Amino acid sequence: MTIKYQILNKLSNAINKDYCLPQGDSFYQEMLNEINAEFSCEASGVYFLDDISISKKAFLSKDKNVADVFSKEKHSELLKMLNLKSEKTFVLKKPCVKPFLEANLKYAEYNFLFSKLSIKNSIFGFVFFVKKEPFSDEEIALLNLSVSIYSYVIKDFELNNVLKSQLSILQDAILEKEEAYKIIKKQNNKLIEADNAKTSFLANVSHELRTPLNAIIGFSDVLLNQIFGKLNKKQAEYIGDINRSSIHLLGLINSVLDFSKIESGSMKLNLSKFYPKDAVNEVINLLSSLLDAKEIRIIYNDSYKEELNADYQKFQQILFNLIGNAIKFSKQKGEIIVRTKKDREYFVLEVEDFGIGIEKKYHNFIFKKFTQIDNIYTKTSASTGLGLAITKEYVSLHNGKIHVVSKLGSGSTFVVKLSDNR
Ligand code: ADP
Repeated sequence: MTIKYQILNKLSNAINKDYCLPQGDSFYQEMLNEINAEFSCEASGVYFLDDISISKKAFLSKDKNVADVFSKEKHSELLKMLNLKSEKTFVLKKPCVKPFLEANLKYAEYNFLFSKLSIKNSIFGFVFFVKKEPFSDEEIALLNLSVSIYSYVIKDFELNNVLKSQLSILQDAILEKEEAYKIIKKQNNKLIEADNAKTSFLANVSHELRTPLNAIIGFSDVLLNQIFGKLNKKQAEYIGDINRSSIHLLGLINSVLDFSKIESGSMKLNLSKFYPKDAVNEVINLLSSLLDAKEIRIIYNDSYKEELNADYQKFQQILFNLIGNAIKFSKQKGEIIVRTKKDREYFVLEVEDFGIGIEKKYHNFIFKKFTQIDNIYTKTSASTGLGLAITKEYVSLHNGKIHVVSKLGSGSTFVVKLSDNR
């Protein structure tokens, strides 16, 4: 009972000790020291086995005649001889092992005990003990128990080491990721700075360009009206060109300015309540010279009888861009239908034309900035490719949506849906 108590106590101490495996063999030396002392062994040894080799972890002997012989032996032969696979522990009585040990260890009268280091049924080594006295049943049972427990301690340490190294690999990876993230964040900030600089540059330049352009348009208008004297044919033609080109350039600059304002986030809504039909009629009036020039008939159906809560100017710009495009991409003597109506809680605007139409693959593309589809109208007319991009942004500012229904050759319908929930 006392032996049992002492050895169990020692085993529990050994398990709780913070051994460092497998860097040094001190753990195995201590393990053998404790067992040798407790069981009065002459010698003992710990060996690991893998598929091809036997490696000595520790060997302790009081008698130099009892030497470490196993690590010199051929792996497969020794395994066969010890038959470790089939027995947990055995006291050396096996006829095939005895001659080998007697030949090698000289002291044939010693008693030997072998115990497997194993987890479940997987053997990874063995411990052997040498004693002058025969091993009692109690000693065999206790040694067997001790080696079983040591098996778990050893594997536990190994597993711990694997986990520790995996953890450190993981920590390294996290650190690397953090580094990469910091670099990306830095670059991102630089990009944002560059983008802001570009936006404010565009806004400033556009603003500076508008003042002289307005003067050019105003003065060429005055000249065209012949207030300060008659113009000959060529003079009138050239001043007319200057006037039209300046108006086109002003339109382009205004679009760029609007877009840079939208992109910088400084574009705000100026909400008010109005009847959509007032805005529509005003825009149709503004575009009447273009409609007349192409002899286009415009039909307006209004069934939205409520007031709309929106930005009047931006709503007009949306109408101007959509009806302007409908005129631009319609044939001579064409027809355009504008509808304003209610669909559940939405206000809906539709601008339908029967012009050239748009291929399905371009239906999303045309809402991106500076995009145009190659056709005779975009080649000849004053287009910037910004109109629909600005329209979409204005619709989004109102928490609305815009899409196009169109077929090449049959015309297009642009549909704007605005919610009154703002
Ligand atoms: P812009 O009209 O200045 O070229 P937009 O952004 O307004 O720029 O339009 C982009 C492109 O979408 C146009 O170049 C044209 O190819 C196509 N598009 C727009 N509206 C229509 C329409 N009503 N019918 C046919 N194509 C259209």
